Amino acid sequence: MTRTRTLAALAPVLLLLACEPEPEDSMETATPAPAAEVDPVDNPLLGEWETPFGAPPFHLIENGHFIPAFEAAMEAHNAEIEAIASNPEAPTFQNTMVAMELAGSELQRVSLVFSNLTSSVADDEIRAIQREMSPRLAAHSAAIALNPELFARVDALYREHEELGLSSQEARLLEVTHENFVRAGAQLEGPDRDRFAEIRTHLAGLYTQFTQNDVGDSEIWMMHLAQEDLDELPRSLVSSARRAAEDRGEDGHIIVLSRSLVEPFLQRSPNRAQREEVWRAFYERGNNDNEFDNKDLIREILELRLEMANLLGFETFAHYRTAGTMAGTPEAALELMEEVWWPARARAMEEQGDIQARIEAAGLDHEVAGWDWRFFTEQVREERFDLDDAEVSAYLELDRLIEAQFYVAERLFGVRFEERDDIPVYHPDVRVWEMTDADGNHMGLFYGDYFARSGKRAGAWMSSFRPQNGLTGATPLILNNCNYNKPADGEPALISFTDATTLFHEFGHALHGLLSDTEFPSLAGTSVDRDFVEFPAQIYEHWLAQPQILEQFAIHHETGEPMPTELLERVLAARTFNQGFSTVEFLNSGFVDMAFHLETEPTSLDVEAFEAQVLASRESPDAIPMRHRSTHFLHSFAGEGYAAGYYSYLWAGVLDNDGFAAFTEAGDIFDPELARSLRENVLAAGNTIPAMDAFVAFRGREPSVEPLLRSRGFGDLIP
Ligand SMILES: [Zn+2]
Repeated sequence: MTRTRTLAALAPVLLLLACEPEPEDSMETATPAPAAEVDPVDNPLLGEWETPFGAPPFHLIENGHFIPAFEAAMEAHNAEIEAIASNPEAPTFQNTMVAMELAGSELQRVSLVFSNLTSSVADDEIRAIQREMSPRLAAHSAAIALNPELFARVDALYREHEELGLSSQEARLLEVTHENFVRAGAQLEGPDRDRFAEIRTHLAGLYTQFTQNDVGDSEIWMMHLAQEDLDELPRSLVSSARRAAEDRGEDGHIIVLSRSLVEPFLQRSPNRAQREEVWRAFYERGNNDNEFDNKDLIREILELRLEMANLLGFETFAHYRTAGTMAGTPEAALELMEEVWWPARARAMEEQGDIQARIEAAGLDHEVAGWDWRFFTEQVREERFDLDDAEVSAYLELDRLIEAQFYVAERLFGVRFEERDDIPVYHPDVRVWEMTDADGNHMGLFYGDYFARSGKRAGAWMSSFRPQNGLTGATPLILNNCNYNKPADGEPALISFTDATTLFHEFGHALHGLLSDTEFPSLAGTSVDRDFVEFPAQIYEHWLAQPQILEQFAIHHETGEPMPTELLERVLAARTFNQGFSTVEFLNSGFVDMAFHLETEPTSLDVEAFEAQVLASRESPDAIPMRHRSTHFLHSFAGEGYAAGYYSYLWAGVLDNDGFAAFTEAGDIFDPELARSLRENVLAAGNTIPAMDAFVAFRGREPSVEPLLRSRGFGDLIP
């Protein structure tokens, strides 16, 4: 993710900070939308945007505008790059680095608008454009990254960088850009060079196909629920099942393979046979030996990635991918996972014991299986914490929590948010706020798109329409997307505590984009190492869980009463519950992801056997699956953002727990000095300093893993 972002100056690409995403939208084949019959000068995607703050003019944009706009913008970008590469003057920082930073702005704008639509409001036309454009854009990026004259100029500057009198940001830009060129194959020659370009393009196509297979295989499955099934399920789940049926044009109620339906069903359905059916269907996505099967694609992707890494002189793709991250090597990432694994596994075995006791107490004689875990865990949870989701949600109203996320930012960083109704949006549910500093000076726009809809991928994420740009003075345009159920007209949107945590998480990413204050756009905001990028998001979650925030913003939607202290305490205590399971489930995927990318002979690899062998080598409990099995593991195979990098959520967990501990140690969650330091060294700094240096500047030392283990309730298991 980092690397693709820092290539922005070379070729703009979409960046989604995907937090556990899973597409669940429908996919049908369609031909691309015909080009709108307009002259390029009339294409609203091109030229100046006459909107407040230069926000995208969604009221004018139609699907048919995209392909012509992409073509015109790629041509303009090529001309700009050609002018830099063939400049007869000797390379200078200004005529090469700054010129590259300024090139391609139109393509970046078009790409960012389009990519956001593909995630939030995709229809068949948009998907067809995406299929057509994704290999063309990849080829465009690759051609620039492999432009020998361009690289020669960057390389010349890099070799004499000490004599250039560069500022620290300039030196960093040169270093990062040079490294990106090298990683993108710029130093390759002859047939290696051609082969590398071929691999890049081929992989881009395979990633799209992997995702579309995942969607396709999910789409062909559904399970109808009879009245007697519905009688045993909570009302919220029944209405979700009804909506799922409406979306598919089915009668009655159905379960489909989206996590937001599957997990509640596995928690609440007493029908063991149905649970097993749903569980198996969910975990076998992409592994059904049909037209959507992803096993061959995995092998092909792994082979190409290995070949690419070898061409660049790396032992494996995992080495290539971790080089230059905060972890630095696959071994460091594995070591962290290992350190957390054994306490987590020990706790999971205790949890399994509790569940087995429950099963026996219910007069049943089966061993706990994957499809039992969530159901019986829910009973243990209810018994131990007596938490009723509806009781908690009654205090968690989306609008108030949005206020809370702004309030925390205001207290920490002195910024204000004011809702605007004059900014064009791509869907009527999207809301826009202007962020200003304490004196009312404009700093950026924040778009919140909170409700689920068909055509929107599942999960939650942050993205942007425009990063902060110190060269042009452009302010950031940042989005958050979530998938909360939209309430009926006039009803409040009530969300779960997990959903509220996600809200804060994504807003932490948003602040990373909004508070960015760098000179060069390719070093701005979230363009940091992938294993550092979750830190601002995850640390922000901690403020939600503070009693002083919940007392103020967790207000009953009918009575207006704050959440009773006793309930609040139970909500907070319940957070360490079942953490053995969650951590093992996560690490199962983390270990498999890393093992795949350390494999040096993927050609004849048996995907299922490989998974099983990795999990067995860790003595992973049978009843806990991988959070994402390989054949639908989008993090690993739908792109390179989290490939050999799934561990980075855990890495970030170390950083956020240790980072927030600084505030609790100071005795003030709004400690002004720490807030200033967090803003200056992390949120504003983007990629202008290496991640470890940024963390150390904020914390005063390197990160410690203990606060993470304690926050998950493993404090007693620390060796
Ligand atoms: Zn995130």
